[in-house]
Amino acid sequence: MSTDNTTATSLDATHDATLRSWVSSANVAGGDFPIQNLPLARLRRRGTQQAWRIGVAIGDQALDLALAEQARGWSSAERVWLAPLAQGDLNRFMAMGAAARRGLRLALSRALAAGSAQHAELKGALVAQADLEFDLPCRVGDYTDFYTGIHHATSVGKLFRPDQPLLPNYQWVPIGYHGRASSLQVSGVDFARPLGQTRAPDAVAPSFGPTQRLDYELELGVFVGAGNPDGRPMTMAQAEADWFGLVLLNDWSARDIQAWEYQPLGPFLSKSFATSLSPWLVTQEALAPFRLAYTRPEGDPQPLPHLDSPANRRAGAVDLRLEVSLQTAAMRAAGLAPERLSLGGFAEGAYWTIAQMLAHHSSNGCNLQPGDLLGTGTLSGPLHEQAGSLLELSRGGKQAISLANGETRTFLQDGDQVVFRAWAEAEGAVRIGLGSCSGTVLPALT
Ligand code: CA
Repeated sequence: MSTDNTTATSLDATHDATLRSWVSSANVAGGDFPIQNLPLARLRRRGTQQAWRIGVAIGDQALDLALAEQARGWSSAERVWLAPLAQGDLNRFMAMGAAARRGLRLALSRALAAGSAQHAELKGALVAQADLEFDLPCRVGDYTDFYTGIHHATSVGKLFRPDQPLLPNYQWVPIGYHGRASSLQVSGVDFARPLGQTRAPDAVAPSFGPTQRLDYELELGVFVGAGNPDGRPMTMAQAEADWFGLVLLNDWSARDIQAWEYQPLGPFLSKSFATSLSPWLVTQEALAPFRLAYTRPEGDPQPLPHLDSPANRRAGAVDLRLEVSLQTAAMRAAGLAPERLSLGGFAEGAYWTIAQMLAHHSSNGCNLQPGDLLGTGTLSGPLHEQAGSLLELSRGGKQAISLANGETRTFLQDGDQVVFRAWAEAEGAVRIGLGSCSGTVLPALT
């Protein structure tokens, strides 16, 4: 694993709030993709059979790295980093570690900055994002979903176990389960309402059919960088340096299937039918200006030493706003925009940090690999209206929420589109965004 002396929260020339790009749309205040962001996605021109390549978001454009690689002005080290990206292979770049990730960011920032010597050559490597289609950013070998959202865990725990909402291990172990990588899909891919086995509370026997309690879960997805060799756990410092970046993640969940199947081994088919990811992978370096101290609530135990470090206490958390919106089929037909259901935050929702998730995951010697994906778990805020799932907003399906057009929801109906957005703002820094993650529920295939 590659490590260097730069810390995750170091700021450098790429974070300079006065930096402007020669791509004018990147300089519009309030956008997701100013030159201080530079997220990566796997993409190609829509409607073509182009080979997938990695691109970098800049304003409403993307720099196509298959084209950009051919320009003059890159150093030999930069050419080594660009080679796999031009071929659409983000995993191979992830395997190069943190120093490559930081080096590429510096090179891209310099190349896209106003006054860049590469401006004339790179102009032809820009593609409007509106003309692109996206794939998952990389090949995901394994997907693990954590349960770090303590407000979510507490309110869901109350619904399932009123006497003991949080089990005693919650404050000591970052709880997680192994998810299904094959049904990960990029934002904009729709899916059919899943079928499954459920048992109504008053029924003697279960039945099989379309889920009646389909839900979303507002999460962030963490991509692993170089990973760790089998049998060699990551230290907290290695874990902090290694995580590559973040996307939005919707862990679509069938609550009736989940309630019937989850004991004794946890969720299985209630989660494995679809999981949506936003296309732009925002690196941890882009998030450096938005880091916060990681603290435990008064009276809670401190993490064990292998999940603790001074750097994690000082700046282990990430300050991101997280928004959920819903557009029903009726709203779409009437030309109404998606309606906000909740607005919360990452740092206030998560009981464990990203570094703790990687350190815990590898603590038994389990090898994490480049491009592995870790879900944070549902990130609900402390207030009821900040809940990151309908299960919570509708209080277990008992209290429907009302929409502005007069419709109500306890769980999702066919035609519903759920849209997540996330962004970061801080004093002295330029706002950046993660873009959006959306998916629409199609009728069950019966
Ligand atoms: Ca989840």
